[in-house]
Amino acid sequence: MQIITKATELRAWRQQQKESIGFVPTMGALHEGHLSLIRQSKAENAITVVSIFVNPTQFLPGEDLAKYPRRPEADSKICEVAGVDILFMPTAEELYESDPIMIQAPVIRGYIYEGAVRPGHFNGVLTVVLKFFGLIAPTRAYFGKKDAQQLLLISQMVQSFFLPIEIIPIETVRDADGLALSSRNIYLSPEERIEALKIPRSLKHAAKLCGSGERDTKLIKSRMEEILSPLAIDYIAFTDRQLRPIDTITPNESLILVAARVGSTRLIDNIWL
Ligand code: AMP
Repeated sequence: MQIITKATELRAWRQQQKESIGFVPTMGALHEGHLSLIRQSKAENAITVVSIFVNPTQFLPGEDLAKYPRRPEADSKICEVAGVDILFMPTAEELYESDPIMIQAPVIRGYIYEGAVRPGHFNGVLTVVLKFFGLIAPTRAYFGKKDAQQLLLISQMVQSFFLPIEIIPIETVRDADGLALSSRNIYLSPEERIEALKIPRSLKHAAKLCGSGERDTKLIKSRMEEILSPLAIDYIAFTDRQLRPIDTITPNESLILVAARVGSTRLIDNIWL
């Protein structure tokens, strides 16, 4: 595995490549969720590139940019063992000039749900992903369904900018107790972790209700609120696969998104119905 920190070096490497390239962008503190993306990339491409970059432009003032877990050594070992070919770990200065050009997320889809709680977050996400796409020009790029809104906005960007890149969605990987793996789970105390299980439990219950024929999102939402109580809920959203709000569930076409705070930790999760 080759570790690259300079954009110019990555570009020079890219110009030598003729085979298919799979790309997995991450913010590090790697876990099985990330590994699932890496494995899929390895299965489908000749070369796999992973980036680890805690992107400052997607954090709002007051968010956890400074304390976000950073483990470059452990992460490089994980990538090496997983058979990653190129690990790109740039600094912020390497990627951003002063007064940088920034992508503007769509004013509706980029500013509802996660975008409403974190206004401007998706501008940062789309900007950094577009930079990576420009540098790496991957054949395929891998994104987790756990970050559903991010996945859908990136797919929209690829379509709308005519980028010749295939976006591959990957199922959410969960711990045995059901909690979706997240680098932020390390912020949870043992008691908070137990409370956090209410999030997957509420989604599982919603899926069960749908499975038994319930279609009314209001009713499902109130059941989910009961399960989530007393967590501070940022939103429970019912949408179609384009993130448009829905009142009635249509199987295979709907999505339930949840964001809730457990102590000072914000967690998101979702289910694709
Ligand atoms: P992050 O490092 O949190 O920015 O995540 C990098 C990529 O891994 C994103 O595409 C995430 O959606 C994906 N990811 C994060 N957690 C999981 C998970 N539990 N299962 C599957 N993919 C995940």
